[in-house]
Amino acid sequence: MLDADFFRRWMTATAASVDREAQRLTALDSEIGDADHGINMQRGFTAVTAALEEEAPDTPGAVLVLAARQLISKVGGASGPLYGTLLRRTGKELGDTAEVGEEQLAAALREGVDAVMKLGGAAPGDKTMIDALVPAVDALADGFAAARAAAEQGAEATIPLQARKGRASYLGERSIGHQDPGATSSALLIAALEEAAEG
Ligand code: ADP
Ligand code: MG
Repeated sequence: MLDADFFRRWMTATAASVDREAQRLTALDSEIGDADHGINMQRGFTAVTAALEEEAPDTPGAVLVLAARQLISKVGGASGPLYGTLLRRTGKELGDTAEVGEEQLAAALREGVDAVMKLGGAAPGDKTMIDALVPAVDALADGFAAARAAAEQGAEATIPLQARKGRASYLGERSIGHQDPGATSSALLIAALEEAAEG
């Protein structure tokens, strides 16, 4: 079973890998966006880590809802409200139980990803974070390692796509040939689940 500590580790492991990969995320965003995705994610997850230390929420749902609040309020870019919605909706689905099973997390994350698609209007194939998140949620039944591999493959598969949502869509065909920054950061978020499971 997964407790509040697991979800705290998930968020802090995401913050650490966002720190490590911030320059790469910003470089990807400089190719098809406005060169701020690494900075946005770093600002957001630094605030998440700080808030979790200060408030120490004691259920999985409360950890994610608190993290979501930081992302929505601290990140200026489109990705803040989208990641905030992902974690808020997932957290709400988990409710206020002290521990959740992996199947429950998979079902809640699916609701979270659906909420992101509703908010942003993106579908799979539009070259957004959705292209990493949907395959990850589909693979989650096979475990965290499978979800991680699926998210990474999904992010790489955005390279030949033309962006149909977000800033990159303004480039039209010129968005082809570049990996989507948000799909790349989503793969980091999913990869951090495996790290959290390792303790
Ligand atoms: P901004 O585009 O405002 O500068 P960021 O650079 O932080 O915000 O994030 C860009 C990422 O957000 C994109 O690479 C894409 O994955 C994601 N994104 C943008 N718009 C949408 C949308 N409508 N739906 C889903 N994801 C989106
Ligand atoms: Mg940007």
